[in-house]
Amino acid sequence: MSQRTGTKLLTADETATVRALLGLPLPREVAVPEADVAEPAAPAQATKDNRHAWKQAHPTQGERDAFAAELRAALTAAIAAKEDSIHRKENARVIDLGSLLPAAAAAKEVVDEYFAEWIGNALLPADLAAIRRNFTFTVDGDSPTIVSMVDAVTRRRLGRMAEPANMVDYLMSTEVVRALAAKHSFHYQNGTLDEKAFYQKSVVEPFVAEHGEALIRYEAHEMSMSDPNTARIFITPWVLDWAADESEVKSAAVAAKKWDTFVLLIHEYIHVLQHPLLPTATKRSVVVREGFCEYLAVKVTRHVGAFSAGKIQDLNLRITGQDHHWPSHTWLPNYSPTADYAPFVERVTETIRTVGENAIYAAFFQGHTELLGTAVNHAGKRYPMPPVTALPGGTRRLPFPVTSGRRGYDWISRGTGIPAAKFAALNIDADLDQADDFVPDGMDLQITVPGFRAHRILRVADDVGETWEQIARQNGTTVDELMRINNPDDNIPSVNDLQLEWVLVRDI
Ligand SMILES: [Zn+2]
Repeated sequence: MSQRTGTKLLTADETATVRALLGLPLPREVAVPEADVAEPAAPAQATKDNRHAWKQAHPTQGERDAFAAELRAALTAAIAAKEDSIHRKENARVIDLGSLLPAAAAAKEVVDEYFAEWIGNALLPADLAAIRRNFTFTVDGDSPTIVSMVDAVTRRRLGRMAEPANMVDYLMSTEVVRALAAKHSFHYQNGTLDEKAFYQKSVVEPFVAEHGEALIRYEAHEMSMSDPNTARIFITPWVLDWAADESEVKSAAVAAKKWDTFVLLIHEYIHVLQHPLLPTATKRSVVVREGFCEYLAVKVTRHVGAFSAGKIQDLNLRITGQDHHWPSHTWLPNYSPTADYAPFVERVTETIRTVGENAIYAAFFQGHTELLGTAVNHAGKRYPMPPVTALPGGTRRLPFPVTSGRRGYDWISRGTGIPAAKFAALNIDADLDQADDFVPDGMDLQITVPGFRAHRILRVADDVGETWEQIARQNGTTVDELMRINNPDDNIPSVNDLQLEWVLVRDI
């Protein structure tokens, strides 16, 4: 099976669509401040990337101040909306986190198993690979992997104190505030420099100054989080409705908390498996971070929902330590994204219509973000993928692949079996003379090779790149076939010298 089925490199139009849906950074020429904002504006929807719409709609300081006040009021309301919930938690019983370990271990196991093929073929730096290999959920010792959100001592020791400014970012993504920002065509993330400065000075700083304490309290009570670099998860310990005289094993509320923790940790543990190139390539887009994670978490949770009754019974016993309270029959099979993440998951689902579902898996687990139109370059910086050209008739061109020996193009016919005359005719408008020289990233010379796609050889550090075995398994082929196609003359450079270049694979 090829893990690339249904994926492709994106055209300019597709790149813009995906960029808007996933909240990826704007191209530089769009992000710089406009010289003259008074110039008559094109309607916001006329181009997907017209993000000057906000400035154009709020040309005076007075209008911008009024909008800032409206945003801050919406943020205040978002905090107030959770007040009842926070208050209930402050008065609820707390469960020992150790009692949640069986649920945590079960969550890890189902996630590892469900995504084994993707995780198993991913390139990782050795230290991160070791962290993941040795990872277990534990609440003990110097380096617990499950920590209570309200354990300030441990959080301080681990350097994971609440950041009020980050909480403002989070609240900006909640439904009402987001709708208000959208109504005003305002981008608090990945927008123009004007938007960024306004957001910082007129929203974040005054709001944190006024509501710092409330933000910290909200974070501790309403959030959970995980740190993909250390594989550590922070969760809340309260069990609402756990009666004072009820034992842990008798309590339906405790059983429900353990199942909720199982489902929550499916999401949080998936964060742990995120590829290290993803945040850089997508500039930490929250749609990518939470939307991809929750999209994948829903898949796993519904998969558990399809387990046989016997398997669910075993799992219930393992997670809750009892056999009289069960999860409802409909909850797991119909599991839907949590309210906070549902809008992100919708965007991911919409994105899939353009990029194919496998692109989400390939980007998230393996770092192949070029399938989303963005990547990381040799310097470890974000690199907006130049688009590929689609020819009339729908065929799309490929970036020029590394050559057999990195020179010329005659080898392509020998490697692919496409007759030389046919290859020349298909590429009559491509400047194949360029191929006689080194083609830096292959994107400025694009060619037509029917029946083939291009694979970008990833790297995560100097000299740490994908192996031929990983490339073969990701593309549903063998190293032998990769060599037959890309190395017909038996003089290909070593795979380490080919990082961030392209090789040809059969398009299956
Ligand atoms: Zn998350």
